[in-house]
Amino acid sequence: MGELRNTHFHAGIDIRTNNAAGLPIRATQRGYISYALVSSHGYGNALFITHPDGNMSVYAHMERFKGKVADYILKKHYDQKSFELSVEFLPDQFPISQGDTIGFVGNTGGSAGPHLHFEIRNRDNEALNPLNFKFDEIKDDLSPVVQKIALKTLDINSRISLMTSAAFWQTRPQLALADGTTRTWRADQVRLQAGIAFTILKPRDASRRP
Ligand SMILES: [Zn+2]
Repeated sequence: MGELRNTHFHAGIDIRTNNAAGLPIRATQRGYISYALVSSHGYGNALFITHPDGNMSVYAHMERFKGKVADYILKKHYDQKSFELSVEFLPDQFPISQGDTIGFVGNTGGSAGPHLHFEIRNRDNEALNPLNFKFDEIKDDLSPVVQKIALKTLDINSRISLMTSAAFWQTRPQLALADGTTRTWRADQVRLQAGIAFTILKPRDASRRP
């Protein structure tokens, strides 16, 4: 059921590396590293760079960080004796020039194959479409494929067949629940009540698609 960990609303793009890890990841623009994450789930090893225009670029599932920020995180691990870390930085701590290598492509966190998960967010932390920023390196020639349809309870009175939890309904007639269990239900047996959202999940790992 490891597949169910990564059921977040996908807010960025997955850049394929033909299943290769260790490729350098370069900063899209100058700025400073404002945030680093180390986690066994979700984004895995991730860096956030804040740019002069206030936008932030996000690089996730990294194999490892590079340079001074890597040293800093290593020391932090010794100090805190914990694997999971989230650290915020000040603008003068780790300044970045455009094209600097900040780390390497990996498969950390909720990732099923080496790839770079990349996002751009505005100063309100809202996700923007990275493809609108005209990166020549990125070619989006894959049509989206629906992997799962999610039903999500929106408030305390919401029910999905009497359950209050969010459910992830796969394209097969099987209902995978957020707690990791599955049940096979027919579509017409799912009863919805008050405040249910429908959302479509795309495959999270574009690198595994042919
Ligand atoms: Zn992604």
